[in-house]
Amino acid sequence: MRNVLALALALWPLTLAGASAADCAAPFVVEAPLDGSLQPTSRVENLQITLQSCRREGAEEVLATRSLRIGGEELFVAVDPEQLATRLERAACWTCKPTTAEAQLHTRFIGSVERLAREPGKALAPGATWLDNAGLKSGRGGGAFLSGDLCPSHRPLDRAFLKSLEQGGAATPIALSITGRWMEQHVADFLWLRQEKAQGRLAISFVNHSFHHPYRPGVSDAQNFLLVPGVDMTSEILDVERLLIANGEIPSVFFRFPGLISDRALMERVREAHLIPLGADAWLALGAAAHPGAIILVHPNGNEPLGLSDFARLRGAGRLPQPFRPIDDAP
Ligand SMILES: [Zn+2]
Repeated sequence: MRNVLALALALWPLTLAGASAADCAAPFVVEAPLDGSLQPTSRVENLQITLQSCRREGAEEVLATRSLRIGGEELFVAVDPEQLATRLERAACWTCKPTTAEAQLHTRFIGSVERLAREPGKALAPGATWLDNAGLKSGRGGGAFLSGDLCPSHRPLDRAFLKSLEQGGAATPIALSITGRWMEQHVADFLWLRQEKAQGRLAISFVNHSFHHPYRPGVSDAQNFLLVPGVDMTSEILDVERLLIANGEIPSVFFRFPGLISDRALMERVREAHLIPLGADAWLALGAAAHPGAIILVHPNGNEPLGLSDFARLRGAGRLPQPFRPIDDAP
């Protein structure tokens, strides 16, 4: 009898937390106003890396890559294993079982994570301990994949550049690699981006670009960017995700290394976090040309006006492959 009572008491909170069928029909939305200030990361509790296979009647199977709690509700970040789209789902609506990367290798998502974690970068001098531009460097098919990095910057967002991408009709896809420090220092610009997205002008995929984006001028790549001693890579990843989710946005499945510089150990942390390392093969300010399927890299954070003027010149001359496509299509 005591056991039955204990069981009933143990189940009681679960029943209370159970989501109704209506709640299950749509992804969970984090309410965050499009003006004012940033929402605190304390809204997002217990954000953890996980890998689970989740099913629910009437829905396609998804992979849970993060578990978290918001306002007392247990949630997970759901990844469509073939389309790579991400969303938040209520845990109570799904039946989830732990899985492994090995068991999910057949999916486009985990297949890409595992393959691209081993994709070498630019050839470096023999004995180099770091990697340059490792990961996904160009995409499948034609057109181009436009990416813009929002590294920490004292200058404002180049809204004119982003406006120049907008067209009547469909939203223009762009992958924005975002840092926590840029978000904290450019709240109005971040909220402006959210508005452009919400109003269907830009189809923004938020790519994790680390929280702090360390950079020490004049220091060699071997000891710079995330290779600066003392960096906590898992915090660099999760702290950006926490800030994005607290503010109503869902991180994509991509991670871009600051400076495109990494090493085997950092690459392993990205793989363990089930993220796809995103390189680039057309860093325009460095003079690279864009071929069909190119991943174009510019900096709309005010730090690299040369790349943006090159972009405008090449685009005007019809020398950028079209159309711009969503980064989820690239791997
Ligand atoms: Zn950067």
